[in-house]
Amino acid sequence: MGVKYSSKINKIRSFALALIFAGFIVMYGGIFFRENVILMTIFMILGLIFILASTVVYFWIGMLSTRTIQVVCPSCQKPTKMLGRVDVCMYCKEPLTLDPELEGKEFDEKYNSKKYSKVEKS
Ligand SMILES: [Zn+2]
Repeated sequence: MGVKYSSKINKIRSFALALIFAGFIVMYGGIFFRENVILMTIFMILGLIFILASTVVYFWIGMLSTRTIQVVCPSCQKPTKMLGRVDVCMYCKEPLTLDPELEGKEFDEKYNSKKYSKVEKS
């Protein structure tokens, strides 16, 4: 499958992971400014903010996870979680949809947006 798209939960999770790394890098960067206490403090606080932000994102993932629907992927037969009307399989990137109307259509994230659903209803 040539879908250049990863499952939403996976995407958010890697974003949170990136935030943690960014936080550590920034905090580590602070060590280079040892002579300047104020600068070092700024770096440390900045790093801490990144790490706190990732905690928030992880919390958000937890909230989102309660709204996901567990489905069995028709392609690889593994249970995967999906969010919204369209998503992709966490394992094989198979596009999945809950809406029979969208079945067989080319995968597009726009089907998840509120704007699109409104247009469709009218
Ligand atoms: Zn799959």
